[in-house]
Amino acid sequence: MINRESTRKVKIGNITIGGQNKVIIQSMCSTLTKDTAATINQIRQLEKVGCQIIRCSVLDLEDAHALKTIKKNISLPLVADIHFDYKLALAAIEAGADKIRLNPGNIGGRENVIKVVEKCKEKNIPIRIGINSGSIEKSVLDKYGKNCPEAMIESAQRHVDILEEMDFHNIVLSFKSSDVRLTVETFLLAATIWDYPMHLGVTEAGTKNYSLIKSSAALGELLRKGIGDTIRISISDNPIEEIKACKKLLKAYGLIDNVPDLIGCPTCGRTMYDMLPIIQEVEDFLETIQADIKVAVMGCVVNGPGEARDADIGVAGGIREALLFKKGQVIRKIPQEKIVEELKKEILEIISQ
Ligand code: SF4
Repeated sequence: MINRESTRKVKIGNITIGGQNKVIIQSMCSTLTKDTAATINQIRQLEKVGCQIIRCSVLDLEDAHALKTIKKNISLPLVADIHFDYKLALAAIEAGADKIRLNPGNIGGRENVIKVVEKCKEKNIPIRIGINSGSIEKSVLDKYGKNCPEAMIESAQRHVDILEEMDFHNIVLSFKSSDVRLTVETFLLAATIWDYPMHLGVTEAGTKNYSLIKSSAALGELLRKGIGDTIRISISDNPIEEIKACKKLLKAYGLIDNVPDLIGCPTCGRTMYDMLPIIQEVEDFLETIQADIKVAVMGCVVNGPGEARDADIGVAGGIREALLFKKGQVIRKIPQEKIVEELKKEILEIISQ
């Protein structure tokens, strides 16, 4: 088990992050927040696949007021993402936001920050300070001459100081960059300075193929070291893909329960059946399942059952057929056209036991 860093506990709606709590999966709506029907629909779909905290952009007062309707129709904790305008923060909090993402140094004078902090204290909701490598203050960049972990940290320190001076410690921190090494090094440094919970992510990570590699490389290294209380894998795609990716990453590190695992060989000259559509169908099916089951789809009967012996159940292909095996022991043969159907039945049977 990974020894997680002990961070302060912060409550976001009905979820507590930090301390030894589980890493929580977060995503962001791609809908217009003021389009409440579309936003509620998207949040419900995301919740169904495993999203645990959802964030919406608040661009104007209409968005801020829309949060009230959205909140009434969902059960996930709702985060309002605000830039520059303290009035939007106040309106979002009033509308029921469970957390706000806002950098206090960017909302005008001290009197504006006081108003937001007092409102957050009154409602007991946290503020996430989010430092993006693309928006570091010019003075900080000039000091370091380039974007680097120290510049990200100094930028965050300015915002943290503002809140701490007002005796506000209900804080979550994030440091995002599209650069994997900068992201990792900044979070590692931050974890030596603050005990506030951290939201992990690689920003502007790109399409699924790019993001899965960059996000797994960065977040994997941090999670392995026990850093990270919430995660987002941002992908230029439907946010449902983000949730699926987060679950698979947390599964790989043993940090999530009730998520299946899939083993599949790369196929080779020994493969005598049409395996690729089968493994894809099995993956799609497993994404609908909530259970800790390990399933294998292997290319040949020579090595398949043995290589995947730690799988709870699997198939290994022969000539237009497959062997069904459990924990490496062959159970029976299945004709090619029935492989997926039979495997699904067996999976459901194991889960029901
Ligand atoms: Fe090749 Fe069989 Fe190994 Fe798959 S399990 S890679 S088909 S030898």
